[in-house]
Amino acid sequence: TTDIYYDDDADVSTLDDDTVAVLGYGSQGHAHALNLHESGVDVVVGLREGSSSRSAAEADGLTVTTPADAVSRASYVSVLVPDTVQADVYENAIAPNLEAGDTLQFAHGLNIHYNQIEPPEDVDVTMVAPKSPGHLVRRNYENDEGTPGLLAVYQDTTGDADERALAYAKGIGCTRAGVIETTFREEVESDLFGEQAVLCGGVTSLVKHGYETLVDAGYSPEIAYFECLNELKLIVDLMYEGGHAEMWDSVSDTAEYGGLSRGDRIVDETVRENMEETLEEIQNGEFTREWILENQAGRPSYNQLREAEKNHEIEAVGERLRDLFAWAEEEPTETDDESVP
Ligand code: NDP
Ligand code: MG
Ligand code: MG
Repeated sequence: TTDIYYDDDADVSTLDDDTVAVLGYGSQGHAHALNLHESGVDVVVGLREGSSSRSAAEADGLTVTTPADAVSRASYVSVLVPDTVQADVYENAIAPNLEAGDTLQFAHGLNIHYNQIEPPEDVDVTMVAPKSPGHLVRRNYENDEGTPGLLAVYQDTTGDADERALAYAKGIGCTRAGVIETTFREEVESDLFGEQAVLCGGVTSLVKHGYETLVDAGYSPEIAYFECLNELKLIVDLMYEGGHAEMWDSVSDTAEYGGLSRGDRIVDETVRENMEETLEEIQNGEFTREWILENQAGRPSYNQLREAEKNHEIEAVGERLRDLFAWAEEEPTETDDESVP
């Protein structure tokens, strides 16, 4: 079985002699920097000249400098700029300022696993990946709650890589909830698969197909929106709380029989084959190659896909309905600003 680490397995004072450079102050960056700082770790934030995040980091009371200077001051470097710019930031700001015995730390293994960053042999390379958006990592910490996380060691030259990564995980609040040990490969491939096949890609596609099927058959867009998108949250909440069993228990017998007898007809063997193909493209590096080229070309397909998604009728219907009904009015939080996507 998998090892899970909690607060008792970690000691933040392991990092007492370290300065941690947090590169980037976006979703993850702001959360890691603030949580570590409040856990008593010496933190310096590294941001490029003219960075739009600079004022936020300074207003939060943190020391801000350039990425290169942050790395040269630090012995523990946490790379929290977007995955698509990490190789560039590594080349220009990190590599020239890394010293033997330093730790290079990631929140996602993409650049290491697909060899976009090839660190020297004399540094530790680790990953602490909270399984949550950054603003929740921060909010949980502030509420004395934890955020589950993954931990992996890619390269251990000091012999302390595990212990140091655990200290970091504790500093950002992950060991309060539990930290699972994994590998860079497993984290990257399962993360990409999950977001493509099920979470982001699969679920939006399922919703759109359901919506279109109803609307094309003459049902009202508003009703289709409620049935295929809005109610999804209620179903997912039940699954989150108690697995499929709790969901099946809570819906009507009619819904349960209908779902059990029809679900596998909708998401059938061909969908399963498509999933396997998608996983293969992740495993053989094809997806990542495509994504790197897409970025080098200025994101033409990405922009097109985004535009098409934005213009799907379901978006306008949803916007109208969310304005008319009260459920979407959530309390705004301090961190729900534009600098925190
Ligand atoms: P963000 O997109 O939120 O990072 C934005 C930050 O990076 C800003 O401070 C921005 O500053 C800075 N930045 C952007 N481009 C550059 C550049 N070229 N040079 C220097 N700084 C730059 O990133 P995330 O927090 O989403 O992701 C960070 C890492 O965490 C990734 O590896 C991601 O996979 C991982 N992760 C993310 C999760 C999430 O929910 N977001 C969840 C788990 C892991 P500026 O104002 O200068 O643009
Ligand atoms: Mg991901
Ligand atoms: Mg119903």
